[in-house]
Amino acid sequence: MGLAEIVTRIRAAEAGAGRAEGSVTLIAVSKVQPLDRVVTVLEEGHRVFGENYVQEAAAKWPSLRERFAGVELHMIGPLQTNKAKAAVELFDAIHTVDRPSLAQKLARLAEARGECPELFIQVNTGEEPQKAGILPADTDAFVADCRGLGLPIRGLMCIPPEAEDPGPHFAMLARMAERNGLTGLSMGMSADFETAIAHGATHVRVGSAIFGARDYSA
Ligand SMILES: *Cc1c(COP(=O)(O)O)cnc(C)c1O
Repeated sequence: MGLAEIVTRIRAAEAGAGRAEGSVTLIAVSKVQPLDRVVTVLEEGHRVFGENYVQEAAAKWPSLRERFAGVELHMIGPLQTNKAKAAVELFDAIHTVDRPSLAQKLARLAEARGECPELFIQVNTGEEPQKAGILPADTDAFVADCRGLGLPIRGLMCIPPEAEDPGPHFAMLARMAERNGLTGLSMGMSADFETAIAHGATHVRVGSAIFGARDYSA
């Protein structure tokens, strides 16, 4: 696969869903990938990337940003409260606001800095005990609490259970965003981004289909 093929498939999925060309942002998920693969995708002109680990992103992106102008960096992994300060300094968006303590911490940081990354609330649509995220039943209240803290909530994010049809999870997330007046929907990965686009995804997070399989042993 690779970047060009994924972009082509995204444009086709937008058209197939009757959506405007370019209405979906491709976040190229570069976690754990060797630097040369990331540089190749930057040289192909792509500028929007996702990372899961603050430490890895901090080691990689400041120097890449010096080489390539216009990089937009999205945090898509679980965020520990004690890494929130580093995260708001590094990332343009955070997709994993998943608990009140993190929201409160981000609000304090935003007040001190006078700015805040764009935020997505992670919803545990499958109600999986091992997975992070606000439960569906608590989401409306959490959105309201975040707004009360003055946080710039752009939308909702989910990672459907691995063994299930993702469609109903994407549909549920879209309904929750709509009834809360949120326009951003961060959903869809390598295996299911076309389904997510059909359900209204505005941000798809695609890693291995662009860069190849991740080698965690390297
Ligand atoms: C790793 C990761 C992705 C990308 O997964 P692929 O299957 O490689 O496309 C997307 N979203 C999140 C939250 C991830 O952790």
